Amino acid sequence: MAGPMTSNSARDPLDLAQAQARAYLAGVAARPVAPSAEALAGLANFDRDLPAESCAADVVLAELDRWGSPATVATQGGRFFGFVVGGSMPVSIGANWLATAWDQNVALRVLSPTAVKLEDVALGWMVSLLGLPAGTGGAFVTAATSANMTALAAARQALLQRRGWDCNRQGLFGAPPLRVVVSADIHSTVLKGLSFLGLGSERVERVPVDEQGRVRVEMLPPLDDATIVIVQAGNVNSGACDPIAAVCERARAAGAWVHVDGAFGLWAAACAEKRHLVRGIEQADSWGVDCHKWLNTPYDCGVALVREAALLRAAMALQAPYLPTGSAREPSHFGPELSRRARGVEVWAALRHLGRSGVDALVARTCNHAQTFAAGLRAAGIEVLNDVVLNQVLVAFGSDERTREVIRRIQDSGVLWCGGSQWRGRAVMRISVSSWATTDADVALSLRTIIALAGTA
Ligand SMILES: *Cc1c(COP(=O)(O)O)cnc(C)c1O
Repeated sequence: MAGPMTSNSARDPLDLAQAQARAYLAGVAARPVAPSAEALAGLANFDRDLPAESCAADVVLAELDRWGSPATVATQGGRFFGFVVGGSMPVSIGANWLATAWDQNVALRVLSPTAVKLEDVALGWMVSLLGLPAGTGGAFVTAATSANMTALAAARQALLQRRGWDCNRQGLFGAPPLRVVVSADIHSTVLKGLSFLGLGSERVERVPVDEQGRVRVEMLPPLDDATIVIVQAGNVNSGACDPIAAVCERARAAGAWVHVDGAFGLWAAACAEKRHLVRGIEQADSWGVDCHKWLNTPYDCGVALVREAALLRAAMALQAPYLPTGSAREPSHFGPELSRRARGVEVWAALRHLGRSGVDALVARTCNHAQTFAAGLRAAGIEVLNDVVLNQVLVAFGSDERTREVIRRIQDSGVLWCGGSQWRGRAVMRISVSSWATTDADVALSLRTIIALAGTA
């Protein structure tokens, strides 16, 4: 019977999607990194009224691939160095496919024993790999934006609770004030989280940073036990890490809460060569980290971690007559969401695949690529503005205008993609090497291209 789900000539939609995905991935290294003008124009084919009639699944998938695939940005190739964007390893894509086919809801253990078990294990592995205190609690959330916000909600609840105020029940109006001390170079998404939390993005106290973007510990204001201090592992521009041990020492003495935004930089802790950069992270009270950046899992995948799991639970727990109340970890008691996809399965698969040595090697290799970029550019007389300590390189090609022009040429070349940023009042190009797929040959070709295009601008 032909109906909306099938057509006479129909290919199985899963077979078709798998073939399309394989063809896409097989071609991604050879195609221009940014989509062509023609590919972008093809997106207009999606502009149509909602169809009145059904359409076979294979036809839908064929349209998606025909017009959608060419207009993607090739972040799955090895030469996308914009923002801080990883790729997805085959094992994580495969785990994502299987978990999507399972269609599990990870709200509750009873809804998915498998997914909750895998997330429990992945969480334990991450805590161990990053060298965080045993017993650290966590939640799989959409990204570092929500990971930071979730952990900061725990901080807010805990610090107010100490003053006899239950902000979950009583709200913030009339609450004793909390202070929030942040790096002058704090990531914009953390400020957004603070505004969602009612802590305000403008009432923060900003601590000046040094020339690499690290907070100057001697400039910290006096801290107290109603203060949240937010530091960074991995400045989004320079890759520099705040002196976390020194900040924690001050904060501990004062009873303040330290949160680490480690969206990508927290993974330095998993690399023997780089761990010194985040020395002291285990002294903090909470952390936010992305898996979709440097661990190379699919989107959306971040993790909120809180030293005292009970404090995360106190901020996030749900109460309803139909929800379990036992002692087992129920994901929805630790994160902002109830129903959600099994994103932790991909983290489990990535960590099971890489192991400790594989994560160490992934971080070390991408950092070495960044070093190769910096050395090659400097040798060609091009200015590198930061100490390349992690995977980030900041480059200027003379005046701001010329830097912007070279970036435009690089993006148009299709060979690689780098974005612009601002660093200490100057326009810069940022090279972020975050993908498992980047090879020595990708770096060599990209370097040659940058140098050649800089010469013509
Ligand atoms: C990327 C990033 C964020 C935000 O992460 P998302 O995954 O985009 O939500 C926050 N902080 C830092 C330092 C980052 O690099």
